[in-house]
Amino acid sequence: MKVVVASGKGGVGKSMVASCLATFFHEAGKKVVACDCDVDAPNMHVWLGVKRFRVAKILKCSKKAFVKDEAKLLRCKLDPKVCKFGALKRKGASFEIDELLCEGCGACYMMCSDGIGMRTVENAEIRLAKTRFGFPLAFAQLYPGEKSSGRVVDEIVSFAEGIEHETMVMDAAAGIGCPLISSLKFADHVLLVVEPTVSGLSDLHRVLRVVKHFQREYSILLNKVGLNACIERKLRKKFSRKLVGEIPYAREVFACLNRGTLPLESAKLRKCFHGAFERLVDFLR
Ligand code: SF4
Repeated sequence: MKVVVASGKGGVGKSMVASCLATFFHEAGKKVVACDCDVDAPNMHVWLGVKRFRVAKILKCSKKAFVKDEAKLLRCKLDPKVCKFGALKRKGASFEIDELLCEGCGACYMMCSDGIGMRTVENAEIRLAKTRFGFPLAFAQLYPGEKSSGRVVDEIVSFAEGIEHETMVMDAAAGIGCPLISSLKFADHVLLVVEPTVSGLSDLHRVLRVVKHFQREYSILLNKVGLNACIERKLRKKFSRKLVGEIPYAREVFACLNRGTLPLESAKLRKCFHGAFERLVDFLR
């Protein structure tokens, strides 16, 4: 069973919820593996108190162009404007490619394969750690300026699948781009974390289009309740059958953040997290 925790917007508490959910399943006696698929900005390891990790695999799923032969580039009369990303530059008779700007589209290579080469580069690493609760966490970190985050998500999920488990809790990247889509294709269920704000509502509709496109079962957890009573009423009315629970916008959440503990461990918050996750389990049956 794979549960993907997602949101159309960053900063709504998705990683916190994913970390609490993995811990909830672990406490309930399930064999859990947590998988952080937010490869641009992973932080489940922070919530789950990871002190040490080992690099399990270096990924090479990105390509970059390089200057192979300047003389041949001159003969090709390669115009740097062929690169729409501004990575290809010419200074007199010399060419250079800015690696951070190169998107690996291959346009320059198609125009002059004698002078330009394409090479595969290391773009991310997969890390494996034991959380302070005792269950494993697999997470990937994209290297600075690197791309192919969707493919990195494929790799991290395949890696996590190799770890013995009954339930995988995946923390997807915020938004509706490639990393989310790569996470969704593995999902048995999607838990959408929503905050009751104007942008939160708009982003929920956007992410729902993607979730529905892939015909995934979903439920909704309303976080930061107390921010906007009007939007909260709207969400309760519209998604009454999908809503698993509500987490208050409370000082205690920030106190947990400062202490480096999970809200699930707080006596004040435990009940609402447990209530929500128990309803989620009903959805999963
Ligand atoms: S591969 Fe594409 S992005 Fe990279 S330098 Fe060539 S044209 Fe520019």
